[in-house]
This record gives sequence, C-alpha cells and structure tokens, in this order.
Amino acid sequence: MIALKLVIDTHTHTIASGHAFSTIQEMASAAAGKGLRMIATTDHGPAMEGAPVAMFFSALNLLPGVIGGVRVLRGVEANIIDYEGRLDLPQGILKRLDFVMAGFHEVVLPPSGDMGKNTEALIRVIANPCVDAISHPGNPGYPIDIPAVARAASEYGKLLEINNNSVMVRPGSEENCRRIAASCRDLGIPVVCGSDAHVSFGVGSFDHSISILKSVGFPEKLVLNTSVSKMAKFLNDKRKRLSLTV
Ligand SMILES: [Zn+2]
Ligand SMILES: [Zn+2]
Repeated sequence: MIALKLVIDTHTHTIASGHAFSTIQEMASAAAGKGLRMIATTDHGPAMEGAPVAMFFSALNLLPGVIGGVRVLRGVEANIIDYEGRLDLPQGILKRLDFVMAGFHEVVLPPSGDMGKNTEALIRVIANPCVDAISHPGNPGYPIDIPAVARAASEYGKLLEINNNSVMVRPGSEENCRRIAASCRDLGIPVVCGSDAHVSFGVGSFDHSISILKSVGFPEKLVLNTSVSKMAKFLNDKRKRLSLTV
C-alpha cells in the first residue's frame, strides 16, 4: 500500500468566489497549520453568479508569492461555458496565471446529457494551451468517455483532478474518479488532488482522494501534490508550452 503525504492543495476557493468564506490569508494560514507547502488559489471564473470579475484574475499578481510561509499559486477555476469548450476568461488573462483549472458547473452550463458532447468539449478544453488541469472530471452530471479524456490529457500533458469534495457533494463521483485514476495509472500520467475547500477548515483535506488512489494502486510518483519540486517541474514545462503556443 502506498503512503501518500500531500503537501500541495491545487484547488481552493476564497471569499471572492461569492459562496466561500475565507480570505486568502486565512486559507494560507490554515494550509501552513496543516503542514502544506503550497496552495493554488482558484476562485471561480466570472460566469458563475457571485464570482469575481475578469479583472480580479489580472490583479492576482498583487499577491505575494509566499503567504504565511506557504507558496501561493495564482490560479482560477474557469467555467466551461459551451460545448465548443470555450472558457469564461480570455486567453490573455489565463496565460499569465500560474495554475489554470477548468471544469463543468451545472449553474453555468446545463448538462447536455450527451456523453459524446461532454467528451468532445472536455478534449477541446484540454487542448487549450492555457489550461493545466480539469477540475472534478468525475462529476456524474457530465458523463465522459474516461479513457478518451485520459488519452487527451496524456497527449497534451495536462492533469485530471481527483477532487476530494466530489465524493461528498456529487453522488456517483467516487466510481468515476476510481476509473479516471485507473486510466491515468495505465497511461502512466500524473493526477492532481484538490480539496476544493470553500472555507479554511477544509484546506488540505484529501482523505477521499487518497482512498480512491489507494484503491487502484496509483503510484506515488505520479501524484503531483506530493512534492513542490514535481509541481515546479510541471509549471516549468507549462511555461515552455505557453511560450511556444500563445
Ligand atoms: Zn464553488
Ligand atoms: Zn468546481
């Protein structure tokens, strides 16, 4: 059995998301208290009611890179706004962020109920050079062809998230996440775990993600959150990718 100690939380929301409760300072301080070394601050993109405007994401460079001893990646959880795979922030803003996740949200894009459409949209999002990771791809509200999405992630060097929160808020996610983890394991590509915390008490909570990864014998070396140097390498490769394409 693998021992997994996760030191990075790549999916966290602050009060700026409009339905979350802690400031960036409170999130970072809670992360430090739990022994995390890095968090990505990933508030919802502007298409979600109550979420920040686009300029908020440009202004993230006002944040120091380290808060309370924890490195802070400036990020977003962008909304997929149509089945063409368009996002709710322009590429010019996305490309300047450290960590860009994108995902389906029922309140922004009503589920199509069509696995083919969902899969095609997600593959287009994965192909977007500004996107680093897909948030909660295991959401049963948007069924996908998991092996096809995992192959796209492999082709473009992108990450699929094993979202800790989904197990509690999206019934049916756990089995999908297990299948996603198994596909990534078979392809030898990394995954990221995110708490999806909407309050400081939840930062760094990974129990469900870890149990899913363990259940499929997922290799520790392919869990990106286990070391700052692994994440630094991913971000370095991302910068190379962006300099070539955007
Ligand atoms: Zn939210
Ligand atoms: Zn989300």
